Amino acid sequence: MSDSNINPESNPLPFGGRSLQFRDKKHLWHPLTQHKIAPEALPIIKAKNCILTSEDKKEYIDGIASWYTAMYGHCNEFIIAKVTEQMQNLDQVVFSGFTHEPAVKLSEELIKILPKGQQKLFFNDNGSTATEIGIKMALQYHHNQGNNRNVMLAFEEGFHGDTFGAMSVSGLSVYNGAFEEHFIEVLRLPVPNGKNNTEVLEKLKSLIAENNIAGFIYEPLVQGAAGMKMHDPEGLNEILKICKENEIICVADEVMTGFGKTGRYFASDYVVTKPDVVCLSKALTAGLLPMGLTTCSQKVYDAFYSEDISKGLFHGHTYSANPLACAAALAGIELLVSDEIQQKIEEVQQWHREFDKKIKNHPKVTNQRQLGVIYAFDLNVEMERYGNLRNELFKHFMDSGIFLRPLGSTIYILAPFTISQEEMNHIYESIEVALEKF
Ligand SMILES: *Cc1c(COP(=O)(O)O)cnc(C)c1O
Repeated sequence: MSDSNINPESNPLPFGGRSLQFRDKKHLWHPLTQHKIAPEALPIIKAKNCILTSEDKKEYIDGIASWYTAMYGHCNEFIIAKVTEQMQNLDQVVFSGFTHEPAVKLSEELIKILPKGQQKLFFNDNGSTATEIGIKMALQYHHNQGNNRNVMLAFEEGFHGDTFGAMSVSGLSVYNGAFEEHFIEVLRLPVPNGKNNTEVLEKLKSLIAENNIAGFIYEPLVQGAAGMKMHDPEGLNEILKICKENEIICVADEVMTGFGKTGRYFASDYVVTKPDVVCLSKALTAGLLPMGLTTCSQKVYDAFYSEDISKGLFHGHTYSANPLACAAALAGIELLVSDEIQQKIEEVQQWHREFDKKIKNHPKVTNQRQLGVIYAFDLNVEMERYGNLRNELFKHFMDSGIFLRPLGSTIYILAPFTISQEEMNHIYESIEVALEKF
């Protein structure tokens, strides 16, 4: 903190000079945080395009688009204008028994860009509930038809969220010990890396033969929380083909990969065999408002369509299809498909490719991977996921005005599409400094 802020008289802060950090500690409990050992939370007072400004007036380039949400930049004026307009007319209405234009329009615009075969939209609040409903759709799809299928299939090291169903299918559940005995039954498949495809397919076939698998949930091509681990589209395609032949509902968790980050609208666009269900959140609402969506094919929807009320999907969130969130999503899609953003996506990919060439022979750089605007590599240094060295690496970036969030020894960049070349170069330079320092 700068000296001027420590002395409340020279730069008065509200509440007698006590900073947000101080007041935060009284009542707030932060996500994914062990408060006894965690460093203090950094108060942010402003976000504009790619820059976060802290209470002590330091600026940070948001190199991960605030967990892959603000892909068109923070406080994007176009999106704000659209949401402001919506706000004057309709804020919230129950979506059970009512409908409204923002939801209808969003369904029309989203279906145009979703992977082929998606036909119906089910609204929810966040990424975890989006996958939770994907799991429920897969299980109830079979239940409604009188099939005894109650097992989910998922990739090793996948991440699908923190509610019970989502936690169950996540392979990264390192700190879920208190809940594991309540999980739904899940079988795991290694990700196909191009070399092990035959083994993975053999394993898949034997799992199918020996179990009653209802659905397969997967992060297509990039496993975000696992450290931007990327896998082979051909291998994934073969898995999906076999699942479909066996009436296993394929649930693509595109919560992270959706909306242009992979260079296409959705990661599933790289794979010939399309999912039955798609889960969306994060960049769906462009970082402005929280919302999730689970979309599905006509085939899935039809399994719930019946005169029997109990065959319906009896799941509902109070804020389903919130009109403001729908307006933000619509504005986001308008930007995503624009020439300007598509060109920026191209440009960022090119910058990453050049940066990769520059660092690839460095002895500390291994496993570089890139898909679209996602660039990652591993530091050839032992590091625990939330260990001390990792924390020092995080601090190194923050000290140089860069917000990156290394996952163990994985350094990745997933900045807003709107980042300038100068800002990106600043990120690259601080990575190069880190290569010498760690
Ligand atoms: C972030 C994420 C989730 C969970 O979304 P929340 O909005 O944090 O609940 C689920 N799946 C994937 C792939 C994610 O990246």
